Amino acid sequence: MSKLANCIRCGNVYIYSTGSYNVCPQCKSKYDEVFSAIREYLIEHPNSSVMELASKFNISVKSIRSYIQDERLSIR
Ligand SMILES: [Zn+2]
Repeated sequence: MSKLANCIRCGNVYIYSTGSYNVCPQCKSKYDEVFSAIREYLIEHPNSSVMELASKFNISVKSIRSYIQDERLSIR
């Protein structure tokens, strides 16, 4: 099943397929890159808050929350 969706990062319409992220393919590669960087940062700084991460990586709190929703990150 696929349907059209709006990318949560850039707002572009793209074809969403089940199991994919809520981002368009262009943003997905960036998303994975940032995710890896955040994950590494959290290993060294496990008590970081969402706000800290957002300012550290210059991305929105909403984006950080989307990582958490994907259960790819856990932040206290
Ligand atoms: Zn996008």
